[in-house]
Amino acid sequence: MDKEIQQIRDDLANKLENAFSVDKIDQLYLQYFSKKHGIITQLIKDLPKLATDQKKIYGPALNTLQDEFKQKLDEKKKKLIQNSIEDPSIDLTYAEKPLNSGMLHPTTQVIREMNTFFRYYGFSIAEGPEIETAEYNFRKLNLPEDHPATDLQDTLFIKEPDILLTTHASSVEARVLTDYDPPIRVAFPGKVFRNETVNTTNGSFFHHYQGVVVDKGTTIQNLKATLTDFHKFLFGDDVVIRFRYKYYPEVSPGMGTDMICQFCGGNGCNVCKQRGWIEVLGSGMIHYNTLKMCGIDPEEYTGFAFGMGLDRLVMQKFNIPDIRKLYGGGIVYA
Ligand SMILES: [Zn+2]
Repeated sequence: MDKEIQQIRDDLANKLENAFSVDKIDQLYLQYFSKKHGIITQLIKDLPKLATDQKKIYGPALNTLQDEFKQKLDEKKKKLIQNSIEDPSIDLTYAEKPLNSGMLHPTTQVIREMNTFFRYYGFSIAEGPEIETAEYNFRKLNLPEDHPATDLQDTLFIKEPDILLTTHASSVEARVLTDYDPPIRVAFPGKVFRNETVNTTNGSFFHHYQGVVVDKGTTIQNLKATLTDFHKFLFGDDVVIRFRYKYYPEVSPGMGTDMICQFCGGNGCNVCKQRGWIEVLGSGMIHYNTLKMCGIDPEEYTGFAFGMGLDRLVMQKFNIPDIRKLYGGGIVYA
């Protein structure tokens, strides 16, 4: 027993000398003095098992050991805390700058919100390649080789005239219609590229969000109902919208959707260029030829498609005045 007590005393003294943090001191305290498993606590608990003469010797010895080291641990802990406060390299009054924590890009946030809406309506979400063939980007969308839209100077070619950077998300529509059998209900957010001069509102790439539905008996009423609900979801229940005829080669009839300018209530302002309305998206019933070229029988099935540019929407929603800021990498917003 003498040896054992001496051993504990030496061990603890050694550990105490090499403990340089408050945490370490707390650990030692628990190791030796915790009520349940402390090494010294246990020896004191076992005292009643000893013979009376032994008790008389070891009782006081263990108590002394306990008192002595509890005090030493306590003193060292106080000293460590005091040192850390007095350390000149630590200034406890220094006001730390708040960290900039990462978050989703505004465009990603809007895309995810829209995905939520369309998933609720039973749409799947699809993505397509950014490098596309002219066949999917133009031909299958009722844009034959000599069509003026395919001759636009704003296409960025990887290898002229067949391999290009996709100029609109409709190329995904062509892929979906070609690869899947109806009924089809798919929405697709995507990055598109144009050979444009970069300024505050135009970039060389931007984002489209499109969707397509093909089924037996799909009518323009289904399209209008879907778009009406979509505008309410994006801009609130009191949004006022109108549909008007527009030409897009891959649909017939084509339909543009405007909403009353949120800034002037329809009276005309700079944002709406005095029109009172803001164009949100383009849509229409999928052209007979488009369905046919994608391998869907246009006599049996009808469908609608819609699409919109996302960037200006995101800029309005987050009050970002310059598209270069939106994709500049240094975007900070509250
Ligand atoms: Zn306005």
